[in-house]
Amino acid sequence: MIRELSISVTPKEASVDALIATAAARKLRVPASSITSVRIRRRSIDARRREVRINLSLSVYIGEEPGPLFVPVSLPGVSHAKRSAIVVGFGPAGIFAALTLIENGIRPIVLERGRSVHERMKDTAKLSREGRLDPESNYAFGEGGAGAFSDGKLYTRSSKRGDTGRILRLLVQFGADPSILSDSHPHIGSDRLPYIIGNIRTAIISAGGEVHFCKRVSRLQKKGDETCGVVCTDGSEYAGPVILATGHSAKDIYYSLNDSGYVLEAKSTAAGVRVEHPQHLIDSMQYHSKEGRGPYLPAASYSFVAQIGGRGVYSFCMCPGGVIVPAASEEGYLAVNGMSPASRSTRWANSGIIVELRKEELEADDPFAMLRLIEDIERRCYHPGFAAPAERLDEFVKGSSSGSLLRSSYPRPLVPVHMDEVLPPLVASSLREGFMAFDRMAGGRFITDEALLIAPETRTSSPVRIPRDSTMKQGRGLYPAGEGAGYAGGIVSAAVDGSEAALRLGGDYCG
Ligand SMILES: Cc1cc2nc3c(=O)[nH]c(=O)nc-3n(C[C@H](O)[C@H](O)[C@H](O)COP(=O)(O)OP(=O)(O)OC[C@H]3O[C@@H](n4cnc5c(N)ncnc54)[C@H](O)[C@@H]3O)c2cc1C
Repeated sequence: MIRELSISVTPKEASVDALIATAAARKLRVPASSITSVRIRRRSIDARRREVRINLSLSVYIGEEPGPLFVPVSLPGVSHAKRSAIVVGFGPAGIFAALTLIENGIRPIVLERGRSVHERMKDTAKLSREGRLDPESNYAFGEGGAGAFSDGKLYTRSSKRGDTGRILRLLVQFGADPSILSDSHPHIGSDRLPYIIGNIRTAIISAGGEVHFCKRVSRLQKKGDETCGVVCTDGSEYAGPVILATGHSAKDIYYSLNDSGYVLEAKSTAAGVRVEHPQHLIDSMQYHSKEGRGPYLPAASYSFVAQIGGRGVYSFCMCPGGVIVPAASEEGYLAVNGMSPASRSTRWANSGIIVELRKEELEADDPFAMLRLIEDIERRCYHPGFAAPAERLDEFVKGSSSGSLLRSSYPRPLVPVHMDEVLPPLVASSLREGFMAFDRMAGGRFITDEALLIAPETRTSSPVRIPRDSTMKQGRGLYPAGEGAGYAGGIVSAAVDGSEAALRLGGDYCG
């Protein structure tokens, strides 16, 4: 017999399977010894009240054992498939596009400008330790895309656009912890993601797909109105319909598409700074305890939104127990972002705090107008060796900087600045008011002399869109997907979007 129920337990009870089973037995009024197994279907933290509780939805097995958690996807062999397709970019969108093509009997030929995720670890370490950037292999480019060295948060609101559960199940199939299927805010961690990505690549190649690294696509080829292949910077050419999943940092692809007559448009985005607090302050604030999170709770996170003069200011991509990294992909431009290990165990909590930038407010009316605004911020924030501009949060809000900084997780040097000098006035003033609003929401605990701002947070979503609503616009054969196409943001939504692009391609060419 299987009984389904919801219980609320203490963090300590939630951390021990036997204590969960005891709590379930109590609620069901059955002897604990009659329970053969308990499966957690949903797990969330309720920190609204002083005593933090863990809410669990359970399937309780009495006198029987549970079946497998899910049926793994078996990939058919596609070595001799009649149809092949090109996937440009091997970030979340490209990875899941390639898997979906195989599931549909199409052989993917993946072309990725960067290096394998394991080689890439050396390149990101060189950037963090020595400030030396490889423009093809860094925190944005290379196998796994921008999602490989991240917090690996898998939370998304985009479930309407496709099957997010399928993405999570595939991640588990390739090595992620099964808890991501039940946690309300699942995350993987930058130390586990490379292993999972490597496993997916092996499966794609074993099924007969191709994955080529250090292959930068420089332009698409067209026959009449139809996109029929790509040309790489090394002169090699590949023929077939194209899933373009190059992410939002690949500016060269936008310019190449524009030169070839494809339709592009400017897109609204957001920009701001990363704020870093000691993690124990965030734990105390969210868990209502001076002692912090204690032994049974995870590093706490927060999510704030405020409307300042009708403009959204919000926290973005929070990394509890993480570090801030230089996420630039070009010399002369700086972007920062956050990543965390699976344990989320560093002493820092960082989050992007960003201000909405609307395309309607742009002065110029061309596809690159928003990109230029973002580039201008990144250029103003750049210092040789990827040193980053920084200012204390309390001093930024007061508008009087002493120039003194705090210790930070950012691995490169920090340069004391007034944020008003490096950010556009609208962004700086909205941020200042936004921080004051967040501080009120947090009972006066968010603005502190222990928090630091590091700029700029600019790679929040694409500033350019490649419209795909009408084949009339782009012709046949081109499937823009993921964050770079301007239709997704975040690992899971990009993965869903890549899968959907592969299904559309399958429908058009094999349907
Ligand atoms: C440090 C960091 C932390 C993040 N943390 C999170 C998080 O915790 N949770 C979350 O949901 N999102 C996070 N994000 C955002 C997330 O990574 C992106 O939304 C997601 O990776 C977008 O997927 P994508 O496949 O569309 O593009 P990308 O991941 O950007 O992948 C594009 C790929 O295309 C390749 N490419 C580009 N141009 C070419 C070309 N011309 N030829 C061949 N290949 C090319 C690139 O090398 C890259 O591998 C983070 C991003 C960063 C930088």
